[in-house]
Amino acid sequence: MAEILVLVEHRQGKIRDITYEMLAAGETLASQQEGSSTAVLLGHQVKSFAEELATRASKVLVVEDEQLEHFNSVLYQKVLSSLIIKYQPLLTLVGHTSFGMDLAPSLSVEMGFPLVTDCIGLSFEGSRLKVVRSIYGGKVNANVTLRESSGSIATVRPGVFSPAAPREKKGGIVMEPSPLRGTMDVKTFIEYIEAPITGEDITQAEIIVSVGQGIGGPEHIPMIEEVAKNLGGVIACSRPVVDRNWLPKERQVGISGKTVKPKIYIAIGISGAFQHITAMQGSETIIAINKDPRAPIFGVADYGIVDDFQNVIPILKEKTKTK
Ligand SMILES: Cc1cc2nc3c(=O)[nH]c(=O)nc-3n(C[C@H](O)[C@H](O)[C@H](O)COP(=O)(O)OP(=O)(O)OC[C@H]3O[C@@H](n4cnc5c(N)ncnc54)[C@H](O)[C@@H]3O)c2cc1C
Repeated sequence: MAEILVLVEHRQGKIRDITYEMLAAGETLASQQEGSSTAVLLGHQVKSFAEELATRASKVLVVEDEQLEHFNSVLYQKVLSSLIIKYQPLLTLVGHTSFGMDLAPSLSVEMGFPLVTDCIGLSFEGSRLKVVRSIYGGKVNANVTLRESSGSIATVRPGVFSPAAPREKKGGIVMEPSPLRGTMDVKTFIEYIEAPITGEDITQAEIIVSVGQGIGGPEHIPMIEEVAKNLGGVIACSRPVVDRNWLPKERQVGISGKTVKPKIYIAIGISGAFQHITAMQGSETIIAINKDPRAPIFGVADYGIVDDFQNVIPILKEKTKTK
């Protein structure tokens, strides 16, 4: 029976959303193969995580070891490869996150398995994995079929698959012995540093008005900020805006910035590269203002205005004016 392993990602005492997203994708894939999905939980004192994961996967494999308290790609690879050898999964899913990108390539070399990264769609063609990858900044979706192999590894883009609701019937929890012997200090965890938040925390805002390179220069920011304030929201931005020092880094939305899920996200002059979209597509309502009707941002927007932002913002400012 085909087994699909899903590597659980956790940090600072919390399971990360990508885990639930991959478990949902893993369950769908497993059902196509009449197989089962298995969550692989590596850590230290993670019993409560295992209970929680059992409501989302057919089985949870747990390896407890003090050295696994924090993510470490060298140690994770050692443990994961030993589980792959034992369980012979058809596919291993890893998040396309800084953890996963660190771990997956060397794991695939060690196992001799094909690796496909940053997947936004997953299915099987017979026993071969078929995936969709978004390339050229979201302009092209490529269908990729992996070569025949006893196992494959795929990294999954965060925010693409919807997590399933927890089930009442729990999967089994299996404790596996740690294969780590002695202390390994090739790579050591030193400290977790949370980026300091000065000013407003955009991740907590209910309304975000976000600006991109398309606004042309920082001179337009005060007017847009006024609209944000009138709406009771905050201003945020895409990465080029930070790179050009128009707004500080803490305002950046994206894979190398913050992930936000406000009630309303207004994107102004933002093209919609996946590095940006991934981190804001969970917003309840997305409104895009862009003069290019083919801009990928319209693919995720609930409402779109195709126009120069300079025609739209003064109207918005007027309409949102507080008395
Ligand atoms: C490793 C890596 C990490 C990254 N991380 C992030 C990240 O965290 N966040 C992020 O945002 N990006 C990130 N990027 C960059 C990303 O790939 C894009 O380059 C970036 O998101 C594009 O920003 P933009 O949409 O503001 O600019 P552009 O892509 O230049 O788009 C500008 C848009 O404005 C529109 N426009 C122009 N003039 C007007 C006008 N007058 N009125 C209305 N619309 C107008 C244009 O039609 C265009 O669609 C990352 C890239 C890499 C390689």
